Amino acid sequence: MTSVTQSHLCLLCKRPLRHVGEDFARKQIYQCDQCDYVMTPGATTEDASAQYDDPEYFDGWGCNMEFDYDRFEPAVHEQVQRYLDFIKKHTRGKLLLDVGTGSGLLPHLARKAGFEVEGTDLSKHVSENLPVKGGFPVHHGALEEITFRRKYDVITMLHVLEHTSDPLSTLMRAREILNDEGYVVVVVPNYQSIDTRIKNLLSKLKLKSRPYKHFALGHHNYVFSMKSLELLGRAADLQVIYRTTTQPAWRSSALHRWFERYQLATWCWIVYRKPVST
Ligand SMILES: [Zn+2]
Repeated sequence: MTSVTQSHLCLLCKRPLRHVGEDFARKQIYQCDQCDYVMTPGATTEDASAQYDDPEYFDGWGCNMEFDYDRFEPAVHEQVQRYLDFIKKHTRGKLLLDVGTGSGLLPHLARKAGFEVEGTDLSKHVSENLPVKGGFPVHHGALEEITFRRKYDVITMLHVLEHTSDPLSTLMRAREILNDEGYVVVVVPNYQSIDTRIKNLLSKLKLKSRPYKHFALGHHNYVFSMKSLELLGRAADLQVIYRTTTQPAWRSSALHRWFERYQLATWCWIVYRKPVST
């Protein structure tokens, strides 16, 4: 097991991280004030694989692990359709790799819309069963460990980067397997959302029964802001071509939509582009 102290430097600026506190499960929380994100050290890819191998992990997300998309909650369909519309609007090319595909609904819908799709997942359940149901390949393992035989036009990482043990190496690997001028689309929770700011304050003041539960550190290792996503892209030699914050489909009242105007909504969406090689 890696020593905790080794993880105390910022992966972007290499400065020492500041200890912010601990969550309700005693997970330690560190922040880089310069790069604007928080993280918890310790979780490895092996831990994560064990967690995601259990089909029960996906219960209660409006999905089921039989890949029976007709029985998914309508809000899930609406959200994934939004991702697809966004991808069509902000990227070009038809060869799409969905990293950490989970239920596989995104590649499934993308395929119907004319994309050629593949997926990856840490879960054996997903990589063994989804290809049979979905009719597209799913590579098993972390992005850094998989040998790919081709390069892609679009790589999607929707709610994935915050789960990785090293988001910079994941993004650099994505760049390697992209065609020139290819795209990476990333969606993660927004550390600077109104929601998070309020819950941070309540946690700090010890007014929450389960402090920092909103960071979901049982399975998230990082919580990024737009600033840290931009720095991450720069470190991986990717250009930022579009960024926005949005509310989930199931929480987008008029008030929530107003947060989006000020980059204060729940999720960060960012599109990176690989420059032409020289
Ligand atoms: Zn930093």
